[in-house]
Amino acid sequence: MTRLSSFADVQRSAIREMLERALARPDTIRLELGDPDFTTPPHIVEAALRAASEGFTHYTPSVGLPSLREAVADRIRSMNGFACAPDEIVVTTGACGGLYALLRVLADPGDEVLVPDPGWTGYASIAAFVGASARPYALDRDSGFGLDVAAVERALTPHTRAIVVNSPSNPTGSVERREALAALVELATEHDCWLVSDEAYESFVFDGAHVSAAACADGPVISVFTCSKTYAMTGWRVGYLVAPREVAASAARAQEAVVSSVSSVSQKAAEAALTGPQDAVAEMRAAYRGRLELATSLLDDLQVPYVRPAGAFYLLVDVAAAGVDSRTFALALLDAHGVAVVPGSAFGAGAEGLVRVSLCVAEDAISEGLQRLGSALATRVAA
Ligand code: PLP
Repeated sequence: MTRLSSFADVQRSAIREMLERALARPDTIRLELGDPDFTTPPHIVEAALRAASEGFTHYTPSVGLPSLREAVADRIRSMNGFACAPDEIVVTTGACGGLYALLRVLADPGDEVLVPDPGWTGYASIAAFVGASARPYALDRDSGFGLDVAAVERALTPHTRAIVVNSPSNPTGSVERREALAALVELATEHDCWLVSDEAYESFVFDGAHVSAAACADGPVISVFTCSKTYAMTGWRVGYLVAPREVAASAARAQEAVVSSVSSVSQKAAEAALTGPQDAVAEMRAAYRGRLELATSLLDDLQVPYVRPAGAFYLLVDVAAAGVDSRTFALALLDAHGVAVVPGSAFGAGAEGLVRVSLCVAEDAISEGLQRLGSALATRVAA
């Protein structure tokens, strides 16, 4: 075969790998994917239907619809606590599209992007596809994987172009405090690199409150948001980023080359999501909180340790007692017990010995899945 580029072999996400294995095995209890089981609230769906039936089915400006950018600016001001102008906003194909466009314009091949460890698998994949290297910085396991600014500082090199911070975090559920984020903004300023703040889970905080990095201190902060999790809109593929005007314009050009513009109908749905009633978000937050309580009390009964999350909708369960690495445990749990989870190693060395359980399924599936996980662990411990 004619040669492919070096990007053709970029490793795929271990989350997707587990998803495929789960799909190939009928009746699997699916605790692997961070895709809300709720359907998109009806007023959002209706806005999209209306737009489509009225012929709103064309390309839009590559930066996004003016009305949606206005709606984003209002929301950022009222909910995220900082001010931005519409021309500092780009509507993106989910947070994935935003992060890809950003890293494309922030880092040259050979540059480094600091990513949290444990951290979402997408950062390393996206960095790899832009030719940058993802350099992990360790989160502090003893504090439930909180930010350790000194560890970020140690990971900096002259090649660092951007630091990614993710609060609330996937997979740890840690939620950063204002002081830590302000210190990180300062660090990025001092070292002349960008701070990319991924706030995909901003709406799901159980203890404390979500704070946007850009609201903590002035500095080179770029914020990434998505409708995927907040409004159960993963399939609509719409998010937005907020960046200094020149960066926003460059990121929009990078996105334009790949998608021209985000789906017009999805943008109308996003506008309805941001400007319409927010009750469904509160209901989903309450449901995740209920599922988390159920899961943790069950694990307490089973005497299985876990890391208590303050936000997002995942739970890291400690399976070190199995005496095998997290990937071996996760594969055995799937094969022998029909439960799909993601091995901690997928998120970095810092999550080895843990598996990520997603709370995006009904309570009975969570109960049954964790019972089986408890039995798998007990069997291995006994063996
Ligand atoms: N950022 C984090 C931390 C995530 O967990 C995800 C998805 O799971 C994304 C970004 C991408 O979300 P989307 O592209 O659906 O907006």
